[in-house]
Amino acid sequence: MTESHAHSPVTEEFIAEWRNASYSCFSSGHKFCREVCPVMQVTRNESWTPTAFHANVVAMEQGELTVEEVAEDYVNCTQCGACELRCPNTLFTGDFYRFRTRTVDLVKQMRTLAVDNGVHQPGYRRWNMLTDERTHEPVLGEVPVSQEHVRDWSAGLDLPIGGETILFVDCEAAFYRTSVPRAVAQILQRAGYEFGLMREQWCCGGPAAEMGYRDQARRFAEHNLADWRASGVRRVLVLDPHDYITFTEDYPNFFGDDYDIEIVLVIELLAGLIEDGTLRPEIPVERTITYHDPCRLNKRKGIWQEPRQILRSIPGLTFHDVDHVTQWSYCSGGGGGLPVEKPELTAKISASRLDQAAKLDVDTLVSACPWSERPLSEAGDARSVDVVDIHELLAESLGIEVGGSRGGGGGV
Ligand code: SF4
Ligand code: SF4
Repeated sequence: MTESHAHSPVTEEFIAEWRNASYSCFSSGHKFCREVCPVMQVTRNESWTPTAFHANVVAMEQGELTVEEVAEDYVNCTQCGACELRCPNTLFTGDFYRFRTRTVDLVKQMRTLAVDNGVHQPGYRRWNMLTDERTHEPVLGEVPVSQEHVRDWSAGLDLPIGGETILFVDCEAAFYRTSVPRAVAQILQRAGYEFGLMREQWCCGGPAAEMGYRDQARRFAEHNLADWRASGVRRVLVLDPHDYITFTEDYPNFFGDDYDIEIVLVIELLAGLIEDGTLRPEIPVERTITYHDPCRLNKRKGIWQEPRQILRSIPGLTFHDVDHVTQWSYCSGGGGGLPVEKPELTAKISASRLDQAAKLDVDTLVSACPWSERPLSEAGDARSVDVVDIHELLAESLGIEVGGSRGGGGGV
């Protein structure tokens, strides 16, 4: 038995909040979650599992461990949500178990607790410092990021600033994979859908929240909401699944009933525009594809049908889909700050995802998440599988030359 630890008041508060959920997991101990966890799949490290993430809280409550001792383990999570879907405690919600499993929230809150106790991961600290300086995420590698260039991706598209509906473009797409927002903007223009760009867009704040820098996340959210209000924005179109989580989960938590902005996922909007005949993809795209469900759409939000509706509307595609259960267990490794601290794990998870795609005998893996597309593309290059964004594929079938860059450079 180790010496019992005293906790700070903020740690005591955290333990009180998570005690029941953690005991519920610890006493169940079935560990069904482990095999769908992308980090566990590539590391087999028992300390980096949803089970361990709960057991640590039990040990902290018992005075056996401190936040300083466990904080680093919580880096090993992409916040994909697969464990929550697989956990029987989730399935029995409202039945004989009292608590739904909320592992993603637990990981986020443990990271926040670490920061509140002065425990920082070096990569996270640097990332958030740079984001604070530049008002945008540094974006991995040598991509130049600054406020004055956040709208560069839209050069030549003649998009207005402001209006009731604006398109929010995440940092990776705005500065690195500019072909994605260019595809989205031009498809919406083709459909005659009116929208503008934000007056002064900052990072959504979601990554800071994911890494535990909650105060910074809130400051960024306050800036963006104030900017929306000042220019009369009522509706925000979102092309990135991470932003979608931030705007539909973090912002309502920050602002409560005062938050009255409608958030629209572009994938859902486009599926509707195809269904009602406004958009007619007619040019055949001769590829054999499978689809990578972004974790934050299918596992976190239950959105898996609309992207498939879009893909099935594109002539020429041969679609080898995965089954509904299997789609829950895949991840690119690109989320939850994992590439910032552990790029080697992200690369392994992406490689494993591409191995699964290659088994389906496809030449293309279609993604709907700009943050996944960089690590997936790197893994795809080694396997001769092309990684293509769903919006770009739709644009091609509509005869739109999107321009932009699929990897830095910001060229148009
Ligand atoms: S997270 Fe769920 S499945 Fe995993 S060990 Fe805990 S209770 Fe069991
Ligand atoms: S959210 Fe995903 S990465 Fe994190 S513990 Fe659960 S399954 Fe593993």
